[in-house]
Amino acid sequence: MNYSALSTAELNDLYLELQSKFDAYKSRKLSLDMSRGKPCTEQLELSVGMLDVISSSDSLKTRDGSDSRNYGGLDGIAEAKELFAKVLKVSVNEIIIGGNSSLAMMHDTLSRAMIHGLYSSKTPWSKLPAVKFLCPSPGYDRHFAICELFGIEMITVDMLPDGPDMNQVEKLVREDAAIKGIWCVPKYSNPDGITYSDEVVDRLASMETSAEDFTIFWDDAYTVHHLTDNPDRLKPMLAACKEAGNPDRVLMFSSTSKISFSGSGIAVMAGSESNLNYIRKQLAVQTIGPDKINQLRHTRFFKDTDHIKAHMEKHAAIIKPKFDTVLSILETALSGGGIAEWNKPNGGYFISLNTLDGCARAVVSMASEAGVTLTKAGATFPYGKDPRDRNIRIAPTFPTLSELTTAIEILCLCVQLISIRKLLADKE
Ligand code: PMP
Repeated sequence: MNYSALSTAELNDLYLELQSKFDAYKSRKLSLDMSRGKPCTEQLELSVGMLDVISSSDSLKTRDGSDSRNYGGLDGIAEAKELFAKVLKVSVNEIIIGGNSSLAMMHDTLSRAMIHGLYSSKTPWSKLPAVKFLCPSPGYDRHFAICELFGIEMITVDMLPDGPDMNQVEKLVREDAAIKGIWCVPKYSNPDGITYSDEVVDRLASMETSAEDFTIFWDDAYTVHHLTDNPDRLKPMLAACKEAGNPDRVLMFSSTSKISFSGSGIAVMAGSESNLNYIRKQLAVQTIGPDKINQLRHTRFFKDTDHIKAHMEKHAAIIKPKFDTVLSILETALSGGGIAEWNKPNGGYFISLNTLDGCARAVVSMASEAGVTLTKAGATFPYGKDPRDRNIRIAPTFPTLSELTTAIEILCLCVQLISIRKLLADKE
């Protein structure tokens, strides 16, 4: 039933029917938090065995015989670098293992760029009259928050089904030397679940940029987070940059936050040796070394990429039914209504829902009246402003199946009610 084909009287009748369903939910005084993409307890349980792999002082030695409890090992233990080099398809010298958070590594990298510049910079970015970043959107709100903190002007770029709109990107970076970077979540993107095509990877790697130190912040957070047996494939970005003659163009980031423990995983960055050597020198002033015991736990527990793959299949077995539940409720309630569209991701942590223009904020606010907390509308855009006010990020992993079912049924009712209000207002 397409809503726009309904008469005013039919829309009013439908509104009343849906309103009474919504009121019934409201009277249940629910409290369901769907706002962040956190793993659920069952997922965290998958990695508790990691806490047993180190039990004696002997087992605290790294492969090269050094004691993981002591200072040193600035860019990580050899076995961790080897494992994540394979995950990110780079060589061992192109990896730095950090602390527990890749977001912290991104923040610190931008902070150092502001104060000192990056390896290819002539001038520290904070000394320039303006610094701008391209932000393919909808995107990850915490990337945008880092830019806001440092006063970096954000330029919204549209997301297309195979990545950022490269026509827009190429034009902007060719014409404006103040554009120093772009945020990319290239695989199972947050929130659209999109994986960049080979063509997008190649165009990013080879495009002409006005800034000599233009840098792609390649946040490959969901690189092994598949939901299907036929996962998306992402062309390796560092290799593409080298091939295009721009080896220093990309800095890559990832972590095990959604592989092992969200608060106690290990984070990693990757890039050309020149880029990383420049950063290693600065890191050596910041720290004598990261938490190597945690790196040892991770490498002993995960062993190799085959074991990571098998481990991620266990995650998928837990969360796929949740994604399927959301998709089936959306399908039942909204399909064919012409009032919403959504993606069906092959991996990652989110389902991205687009309402009719101008409805997302009202939907999120109405859902909160019934006790359902969603990610703030607008959060997926720079400055928290969705120009079409239509994108809602759904994070299915944390709630139980029954909480999720209730929350999405409420969300769908809100989408229906707010859409009807808009359609009725448009008729007036
Ligand atoms: N990048 C993206 C795209 C994310 O979605 C998240 C987590 N929501 C992070 C980074 C955070 O990673 P970390 O826990 O390693 O800081």
